Amino acid sequence: MDTSATLFERAQRVLPGGVNSPVRAYRAVGMAPRFITRADGTKIYDADGKEYIDYVCSWGPMILGHNHPAIREAVVAATMAGLSFGAPTEREIEIAELMVSMVPNIEMVRMVNSGTEAVMSALRLARGVTGRDKLIKFEGCYHGHSDCMLVNAGSSALAGGHPSSAGVPQGAAKDTLTAQFNDLSSVEELFSAHDGEIAAIIVEPVAANMGVVTPTAGFLQGLRALCDKHGALLIFDEVITGFRLAMGGAQAHFGVRADLVTFGKIIGGGMPVGAYCGSRALMETVAPCGPVYQAGTLAGNPVAMAAGLAQLRYIKDHQEIYLQMEAYAQNLAAAMTKAAQDTGVAMAVNQIGSLVCPFFTPTAVTSFVDAKGSDLGAYARYFAGMLNHGVALAPAQFEAMFVSAVHTQDDFDKTVAAVRATLSAME
Ligand code: PLP
Repeated sequence: MDTSATLFERAQRVLPGGVNSPVRAYRAVGMAPRFITRADGTKIYDADGKEYIDYVCSWGPMILGHNHPAIREAVVAATMAGLSFGAPTEREIEIAELMVSMVPNIEMVRMVNSGTEAVMSALRLARGVTGRDKLIKFEGCYHGHSDCMLVNAGSSALAGGHPSSAGVPQGAAKDTLTAQFNDLSSVEELFSAHDGEIAAIIVEPVAANMGVVTPTAGFLQGLRALCDKHGALLIFDEVITGFRLAMGGAQAHFGVRADLVTFGKIIGGGMPVGAYCGSRALMETVAPCGPVYQAGTLAGNPVAMAAGLAQLRYIKDHQEIYLQMEAYAQNLAAAMTKAAQDTGVAMAVNQIGSLVCPFFTPTAVTSFVDAKGSDLGAYARYFAGMLNHGVALAPAQFEAMFVSAVHTQDDFDKTVAAVRATLSAME
């Protein structure tokens, strides 16, 4: 038994499923998880010292790779001044100013501790401002684990076979209406059936919790138009796309304005952070300015803010990383597609910016229905093969592969060799 297996046995005695977040348990791929002891650059190292090229990147935030000196030094310096004050700091102004300068259409920022909180709070704001209760989300999109968002949710809620969760009261779920991603008519139908009742549409502008599914031309623009027509707010959940698809996130990439934007992990540089943002008029409805209550003991934590600031400053000063990451991801997607053709494995690879996702299906994947058509057994075999060849992928089909700004040509060559070897063995 290797050290990870021993640790997993021990973990299961005191942690449900041996983990603190379900997808880490590797259940979707039927394996025991690797326990990680350290990470540096593009590599993570397990408890037996085995090295892996990492494409999970802590589920997105490590866009500059692990242990980046600029972030590490900022965190070390911040800890020397104390870990938490429960009082305002200049750093919170600095990160908000920076975000406002980088992201279109936002004037104010409220920091929270996770993506879940950011979404939960943005939805409350939307309901508070419009005086309406109903929300539209898309089947297979994931917006964290708050009650009203665990309805037809993606990510591990899907991979684990729990399309919605036990314990979500009927009352909390009844106002969440679900539409189909990339199908505007499904949204129009909901507006017709519930005219004047819908507070907001929330969408992952690139659906990245059903695997990666990109918006078809006009889809996001159509959502904007429908929100304008019906007096609802458009919320872009940019927990994955924010500062990744482009410096200004999906709004910048697709040229579509959102009323509220939620961010998560990526603005914490590896520390637990989230934020919701919008115009001054909307954001000043939040306490202490307005009637929408939301608070947080550790919100804007000085160490987390130091990490986030260092990451965002670095990105702003090195915008060439976007072209670099995109080129890597494009070449990787092309090499994966070629390897699948050469080995006769049915695989469709989706890619946008630095997000990549292979689906084990012969046809293109442009909807949640297509994504669900992927052969999950094939993904599990692919995952196991890649891990065996030293490449760490998300341990479930309905997730993204994250390319960082520091993945190298050597990583690329090794990854492609691993893909070829793995697919050959799957024939
Ligand atoms: N929204 C999206 C789009 C996400 O991908 C996630 C998590 O991956 C969340 C919200 C929830 O964020 P957190 O896990 O930080 O609560």
